[in-house]
Amino acid sequence: MSFDRVIVVDWSAAGKPTTQKDSIWIACATPQGTQAENIATRHAAEARLATHIAEALGSGARLLLACDFAFGAPRGLAERLTGSPKALALWDWLAARITDTPQNGTNYRAIAAEMNRHFPGEGPFWGNGQKLETADLPRTKPALPKGISPFRRAETAGHENGLQPKTLWQLAGAGAVGAQSLTGIPMLHRLRAAHPGVVAVWPLEPHAAAPVVIAEAYLSLLKPEVAALVATGMTPDEAQTRTHAEAFLAMAQNGGLDALMTIAEPTDLLEAEGWYLGAGNAAAVTAAPAPALTPPRLRNDCFAMPQGVDWVPVDTALTRLRETLHPITTTETISLAQALGRVLAADMTAARANPSQANSAVDGYGFAHASTGAGLCQMPLVQGRAAAGQPFAGAVPHGQAIRILTGAILPEGVDTVVLEEDCATTARHVAFDGPIKPRANTRRAGEDIGAGDTALRAGQKLRPPDLALLAAIGRASVPVYRRLRVGVLSTGDEIVSQNAAPHQIYDANRPMLLALAQGWGMKPVDLGHCPDDTALIRDRLNRAATQCDAILTSGGASAGDEDHVSRLLSAEGALSSWRIAMKPGRPLALALWQGVPVFGLPGNPVAALTCAVILARPALAALSGAGWAIPQAMTLPAAFAKSKKAGRREYLRARLTAEGRVEVFASEGSGRISGLSWAEGLVELPDHALTIQPGDPVRFLPYAALFD
Ligand code: AMP
Ligand code: MG
Repeated sequence: MSFDRVIVVDWSAAGKPTTQKDSIWIACATPQGTQAENIATRHAAEARLATHIAEALGSGARLLLACDFAFGAPRGLAERLTGSPKALALWDWLAARITDTPQNGTNYRAIAAEMNRHFPGEGPFWGNGQKLETADLPRTKPALPKGISPFRRAETAGHENGLQPKTLWQLAGAGAVGAQSLTGIPMLHRLRAAHPGVVAVWPLEPHAAAPVVIAEAYLSLLKPEVAALVATGMTPDEAQTRTHAEAFLAMAQNGGLDALMTIAEPTDLLEAEGWYLGAGNAAAVTAAPAPALTPPRLRNDCFAMPQGVDWVPVDTALTRLRETLHPITTTETISLAQALGRVLAADMTAARANPSQANSAVDGYGFAHASTGAGLCQMPLVQGRAAAGQPFAGAVPHGQAIRILTGAILPEGVDTVVLEEDCATTARHVAFDGPIKPRANTRRAGEDIGAGDTALRAGQKLRPPDLALLAAIGRASVPVYRRLRVGVLSTGDEIVSQNAAPHQIYDANRPMLLALAQGWGMKPVDLGHCPDDTALIRDRLNRAATQCDAILTSGGASAGDEDHVSRLLSAEGALSSWRIAMKPGRPLALALWQGVPVFGLPGNPVAALTCAVILARPALAALSGAGWAIPQAMTLPAAFAKSKKAGRREYLRARLTAEGRVEVFASEGSGRISGLSWAEGLVELPDHALTIQPGDPVRFLPYAALFD
């Protein structure tokens, strides 16, 4: 029995929508990484799980869906209510009675009381966190009816392991799980009923052949692992669902889940009471390794150019790369403090609205708009005030006003605020000139962003304002792609890093390309330098393929005698040599070396930089998860004259004059590194023939856009 993905759900019986402590979390672990979501209501969570099930079935992936509440009761309840001892009979009974609204309005207390009425005495269900009494639901632990035990066999087995799951009968108080079972079982009942014979519940029914298996989990098996994540700023609920989902996935991969799901208890007991993953065998879960991750791979032919293409226009090359490249890194979750420059791996929805409550935009006086009119308005002031962080507890009566400060939540009875500068006041009254607009000087709840709205999209590279937005909507941690590891290798017999003899030159490309990768938010990996020796380059690439997600080489990329990189790549690396119609640049060797994309850049530093920023930058961005990167360009008047031929795109080293015109470097020589450094960007001249006169508009690509 094996599963391809594991979902762990931390359920909640909350009475209103919430993403605070003890709200619903759903973590989905796959070999491509783990995604976790916080969901405000049970209705929304049920819809999300239905989507997960449909996706798994659609892609042929076998799914284990584990939920953190008891699937059965200690023996006696099911039989008393339904006549059958089986837990699934209890599921039918509960699903027919327990209701829930889109706003988390549930009747589980009334149904618990109804169950109590089937027994003599007070229990077995007890506990009520609400002010309102529920008849027949005692607040404190009653004596259990005769023959009803507090725990299932699974819980006593767990207790022997030092685990302390609570009794189903307890509906409120720290760590209580009963309410989660009563609200969760009807949800699972519906998911199961929607796919007859496809979704099976372990161990309540045969499940060996089911594509989707629902199982009970207890999310306190991995305490140290959870604590380590919480120390990074992750909420405990998210950490619990992630760690347990990953442990179960690892066990599904190494066969350990089979043993975990084979329980040496009679079938009738298991079908009556259920069991939870790890009960009596917690050590198997705590010993689970990390799941084996398999990043998505590129297709072998991803760099192939259609037959018969000779010179490839820049736009054709870019389109081709854009169509074939996709993210190849796995994901991780990190705290906001670490997230600058990282790429979001999932859409981020608002865990709470911003602002979460209607509040005042100014310092002034608040009241009900309906109690004002045109002309002079004078109102008595209520005692007290409303300030940011210090809400006014009472209500403001119609016709009265309250002192209110910027950011204060509007008290009940207040919908409009007048600026203090527009008022005359005494200690007990305020007066101002009407009419005043309804809701003047207030901010609506959710006017910036509503709860559940998408605030940022997957692929966004996080900038300082994005961190502000994530913090404001209650996201302390974010799923991001792991940084793309970009290896940089220089080749050439003449290249050295120090003490150059007259026939040698210093390696200028490597520090430049490593710094570019760093600036693009990736992880530069220095692969050093290799002479023009096929065997040595092969060795180096072999090693690099285990350390890097992508490789940039420079030098040896053309088709000459000493072009060992392109020779090696074409013999052993599925090379596709693109003759790109651009100057500087031209040869770009694109290959897969053991599945790792290699961009063979020209050796000339000017050409290496141009090819890197125009071609490698967007390609690497696509591989990193950030999506295709189009540099921001400006159209500006030229400060130079030039005429160019048709058939290739040209890039000139350029910068802005004091007058905001674009001047170009005096020489177009592609070895002139000083010109690269003199420049502040590149001028891009189109593929067709063109004569430029001073003052003509040209396209300027600032370094700032190309290096970001
Ligand atoms: P290649 O592409 O190997 O034919 O090299 C073209 C030119 O670029 C030659 O003049 C090389 O010496 C020079 N070159 C190659 N690699 C580097 C490097 N890492 N740093 C500076 N110049 C280089
Ligand atoms: Mg060379």
